[in-house]
Amino acid sequence: MPFYLKASEIDDQLAGMNSLLIVPCRFCPAASLAVHEKKPFIELFRHFFRTEAYESFIQSLRVDLEAQGIDAEVFNSWMPHHYVACMWSTKRRKALVKRAKEFDGIVVLGCEAAVETVRDAIGPGSCRVIQGMEVVGLMNLLPKFIFPSTVSLEVQSMTMHRTGGNQKTLRSPHLHTLIDVQPSKTQNIMDKREGSENFRCEHVRSS
Ligand code: SF4
Repeated sequence: MPFYLKASEIDDQLAGMNSLLIVPCRFCPAASLAVHEKKPFIELFRHFFRTEAYESFIQSLRVDLEAQGIDAEVFNSWMPHHYVACMWSTKRRKALVKRAKEFDGIVVLGCEAAVETVRDAIGPGSCRVIQGMEVVGLMNLLPKFIFPSTVSLEVQSMTMHRTGGNQKTLRSPHLHTLIDVQPSKTQNIMDKREGSENFRCEHVRSS
């Protein structure tokens, strides 16, 4: 059950930064972008285990940062067991420590667990860690295999994430509206609908 994540607004955290390392978790964020863009999650023969929609998002972020005069690079690996940041090996963490020394800061694309993995790996120091995405909810997904090598994800339902207050589950037939909006606008729509800090969780079912 992956998280559905949206891009965070990070411009106000970039003051004084000349170089940034983008550290992408390639599971939940990749699933989120595939769902949002209505594109395949995996096209094995075209992109191996990478998700084209997510790779485009990472490259756009890099280009945006460079347009602001910040030297941006991506902490990459083609090894699928490196994709899930909350399950990184010791070797992967050590590789990050070495790489991070070359940069003023790190932008983590993933949930709080991905940020924690990065913080835990690099330890306290001068390298600032910025969370580049935030969790909107949890997706129940139905994978669809398309011969010969494509996997698409169909959202069956989503449990919306809220912080503070008592948890309450609401149901709505508007799942596709939530998925279809731009990620940056999703939270506003949810906030209007919930209308109360007492509700921190909304369960939205596909109609
Ligand atoms: S680090 Fe977070 S975003 Fe990445 S796979 Fe783990 S739970 Fe999902």
